[in-house]
Amino acid sequence: MEDCIFCKIIAGEIPSTKVYEDDEVLAFLDISQVTPGHTLVVPKKHVANIYEYDTDLAAKVFSRIPMLARAIKNSNPNILGLNILNNNGEVAYQSVFHSHIHLIPRYSKKEGFG
Ligand code: 5GP
Ligand code: ZN
Repeated sequence: MEDCIFCKIIAGEIPSTKVYEDDEVLAFLDISQVTPGHTLVVPKKHVANIYEYDTDLAAKVFSRIPMLARAIKNSNPNILGLNILNNNGEVAYQSVFHSHIHLIPRYSKKEGFG
């Protein structure tokens, strides 16, 4: 889709740090990391929000989440938890209208991001 920043990332027109890619799904680091390793998981097909997924697309995208969660956890022994977040609509703090799932690793409060 024209003027969609995530479609441009998927097309390779805008650089990103890729975490995972297959035919249907791309995962890349968020440009503004809430914590180190903050990753966005997007369908390659442009859908604006959760309401536009059909069952097939939902299966493709959401079935990758546990594998990506494990990969993020295994990337750093200081990662002790993970938030999975999907914002839909401006009032829900969605700012990019190509649906995406945030994977936000959480670290020890005492140790910091280590
Ligand atoms: P939302 O607020 O829509 O749930 O999240 C959008 C996310 O996309 C934000 O966390 C923001 O930092 C990220 N983002 C916006 N533009 C870019 C970009 O050009 N590259 C990357 N990697 N992330 C982006
Ligand atoms: Zn798009």
